[in-house]
Parts: sequence; structure tokens; C-alpha cells
Amino acid sequence: MTKFFKLTLISCLSLLMLNGCFWTKEATKTRHDSHSTQTETDSSDKEVTVSARQPQNQEQKKIPVFILLGPPGCGKGTQAQIITTEHNIPQISTGNILRAAIKRETPLGLKVKSITDRGLLVPDDIIINLVKERIAQSDCKNGFLLDGFPRTIAQAKALSNTNIPVNHVIEIAVPDETIIERISGRCIHPASGRTYHICNNPPKRAGTDDITGEPLIHREDDQQETVKQRLAVYHEQTQPLLSYYQQMSQQADNRLCFNTISGVGPIEEIAETVLKILSQEKNV
Ligand code: AMP
Repeated sequence: MTKFFKLTLISCLSLLMLNGCFWTKEATKTRHDSHSTQTETDSSDKEVTVSARQPQNQEQKKIPVFILLGPPGCGKGTQAQIITTEHNIPQISTGNILRAAIKRETPLGLKVKSITDRGLLVPDDIIINLVKERIAQSDCKNGFLLDGFPRTIAQAKALSNTNIPVNHVIEIAVPDETIIERISGRCIHPASGRTYHICNNPPKRAGTDDITGEPLIHREDDQQETVKQRLAVYHEQTQPLLSYYQQMSQQADNRLCFNTISGVGPIEEIAETVLKILSQEKNV
């Protein structure tokens, strides 16, 4: 009998000790998880490095990623400046990046100059790499706005493959005739990409940039024939993106919102509509 009690007592004590070890391990693991450290206790109690794990609330944090779509001259650049100032995020304009490369005569600039001058699209692989590199930079970690990208289904798919969730795609719709009339009066500050129009959005002093006072230029590819070519390219290669994103926005588990707005009218009124749309979120 005494021997039986002794044996039971020893078994109970062993069980309690084992349990203690288990809870100590679990507590260590939980502490590490809740502090989101880069270490985790493995079965041999050695500290091992694992890939950085975001805490749940950060994973769920909605980072603004916006896309502006629309034909050349629809006002994407102007609206992009207003939105990026309001949301404090960088504007990524592939057109501006390419123009800067052309101006500095970098290998990229030399490669794409004749393509952009003719109003054609730069090959997808070049643009996709360029955007991937740009959005990997630290200023994009809290969101960004894409202006002029994507322009083909292949570019949209490449963006989607990065797994960066896009919140809003806004199409700024403007009829072709209005575009042709608009672009003929458009001038640009090459260093910043700020755009003006001699009638609709004139600079404070004719021919000079409001902020720097530097001279404005008329873009090479804003000549009427080139604009017609760019519009044809838009209808053929970029317009299919409208239904691509519309369908994506209809998926119940996708947080993307797709909207079309008219780009005809006073800039401030269009901006008001755009900012209102961007303040709304789809619950998924
Ligand atoms: P933008 O200022 O956005 O109108 O762009 C000017 C020119 O740069 C276009 O006509 C194209 O030749 C080229 N470009 C800009 N973005 C892209 C893009 N996403 N894909 C291909 N070509 C582009």
C-alpha cells in the first residue's frame, strides 16, 4: 500500500514538473509574439532568427495605394499632385521618370526616347522593373499613387503579383476631342512634372513655374499628331484595364474600389469628387 502511494506521489510530481516546463515555453513564445521580435524559442530553447513577422494590427492597417487611369491629358497629373499632397504619399509617374531619364541621357533615357516621341508604349519589362524598383523605396512604405501605370494588362498583372493591395482605381474620363484641344495648350515644368494649361490652369506668370519660377515647356509628344497616336494606343492597350479593375472590385474578398469620374470641369470640383471617393473604404 505504502509503496503504491509513493509511486502515485512520484508520478504526480513528475507530471507537475513537465507541465511547468510547457507553460514556461509557451509564455516565452507568447511574449516574443506580442512584441513582434525577430526571434522565437525553438524546442531546444535556443534563440533562432526567423523572418520578420508583422503584428496583426499592422497587417490589417490600410495603406493607401491608388491608381489613376485615363487618356493622356485627362488631368491625371494635376489630380495626382492634389491627392499626394492631401495623403502625404509619393506620386509615381512613369512618364515623369522616363522624361527625367531622357533629359539626363541615361541608358534608359536613350533607349526609350524614340518610343515616347512617337507616342508608343515603352516595353512592359522595362516599365515593370522600373516601377518595382521605385515602389520598393522607403518613401513608399506608407502608400503611393501610380500615375500612368499600369497601362497594359501585363503591367496590371505584374503589379498584382507584388501582393501590394490596391485600394482605389479611379478612371478620369474625357472625350478625345476635348483631349486634343487641351493638350495643345498644355505646358509643363520639366523638373517637377507640374502641369499647366494656358486657359484652364494658367501659371501665375505666363511661361514660368509657380513654385520655382523656372521656364515651362511644351512636351515633344504633345504635338497634335502624336496626341492622336497616344489616344489610339490608349484605347487599344490601356482601356481594357477598366473592365479588368471593375471585375476585380466586384470580388467580395477584394478591397479594391473602382470609380469613373468625369474629368471635364473645374479642377477643384474634380479634386473634391476624387478626394471624397478616396476617403471611402470597402469593407472586406
Ligand atoms: P505620360 O506622361 O504618362 O503620358 O507618359 C509619356 C510617355 O511615356 C507615354 O506616351 C509612353 O511612351 C511612356 N510611358 C509612360 N508610362 C508608361 C507605361 N506605364 N507603359 C509604357 N509606356 C509608358
